[in-house]
Amino acid sequence: MKPLQMVDTKTQYLKIKDDIDAGIFQVLESAAYINGKPVQDFAKNLSAYMGVKHTIPCGNGTDALQIAMMALDLKPGDEVITPSFTYIATTEVIALLRLTPVFVDVDKATFCIDPEAIRKAITPKTKAIVPVHLYGQAANMQEIMAIAKEHNLFVIEDNAQAIGCDYTFSEGTVKKTGTIGTIGTTSFYPSKNLGAFGDGGAMFTNDDALAEKLKMIANHGQKVRYYHDIVGCNSRLDSIQAAILDVKLRHLDEYISARQKAASFYDNAFAGNDSLTVPAIADYSNHVYHQYTLILNEVDRNELSSYLARHNIPSMIYYPVPAHRQKVFDALGGSNYHLPATDWLTERVISLPIHTELDEEQLQYITAHVLNFVNGNKD
Ligand SMILES: *Cc1c(COP(=O)(O)O)cnc(C)c1O
Repeated sequence: MKPLQMVDTKTQYLKIKDDIDAGIFQVLESAAYINGKPVQDFAKNLSAYMGVKHTIPCGNGTDALQIAMMALDLKPGDEVITPSFTYIATTEVIALLRLTPVFVDVDKATFCIDPEAIRKAITPKTKAIVPVHLYGQAANMQEIMAIAKEHNLFVIEDNAQAIGCDYTFSEGTVKKTGTIGTIGTTSFYPSKNLGAFGDGGAMFTNDDALAEKLKMIANHGQKVRYYHDIVGCNSRLDSIQAAILDVKLRHLDEYISARQKAASFYDNAFAGNDSLTVPAIADYSNHVYHQYTLILNEVDRNELSSYLARHNIPSMIYYPVPAHRQKVFDALGGSNYHLPATDWLTERVISLPIHTELDEEQLQYITAHVLNFVNGNKD
């Protein structure tokens, strides 16, 4: 059996090696390392895939969130509502810009921000909502957009884990997550569903003026070289990464299917086992399984993960500490929050290997061991 890994980007690369190598080689030949043609081509192709007017590439997914918030002219003290049950990047940039993060609870079934909790957290200072499509499953965007409209709030979708996810509105319209809010952001970190071989990120919007501003901010606040109109930063996607991503974008739907196939193998194997709750699929979207995350019911998580490790099966806790309990947010009153679903999930989630290269033998081996353990055979 091939050794098990949380992600297997090497095998994935070898299958498309010729195209990737050719893309990289072309950049070397052209010597246009920064903002070369591959960057523009990739942005155009990604816009077409996403069904969005503008894709603005940048340095990474964290920058994408930061630039999005800068472009919306949020002022220090403005409140931004976001889940605590997420990767630190989402909440970190809010604090970095001296905005006030307001952490709210998630829905236990989808792991994503709870629209009712958003409603309760709105104050006159609220300016934006940052939903996270966690693990590859969409947040309830229809509700979130309705709340945003009602209260005149911006919505920045953190789509770093859900690129390619389809959201279906109740009247039947289908949109990609990341293209529904005011701005969507994503990351091309190597392990993400569309991963580069280094850092990368992008922002999405249908608003022409906002697109222009996002582009300016990512490029030192200039439209014309050496004429700086607004405060910006330096956040670029390299031509080499863009060339790689452009090749991988052509395979994204196939990659998503491979993840869904692996997830469905897990789902079937674990069905009906009371110790394991498999990831729910919301009726408004599909799931692109950036992670395959189980909720453990009355199972010792540490023991399970050491048992799996003893059998060479990696597993991960995403995330062991929610944002409101991080030391960094102590000063912002993190410990005063009462987020029962977030705490409940934090203690019970475990993620199993999921990627495009898992074969049936590996899946069989993983599921057999998880079931062995929860059924009491622990050696
Ligand atoms: C990966 C990730 C980010 C940050 O992306 P980087 O490219 O690593 O900066 C932001 N939010 C979420 C939810 C992520 O998973």
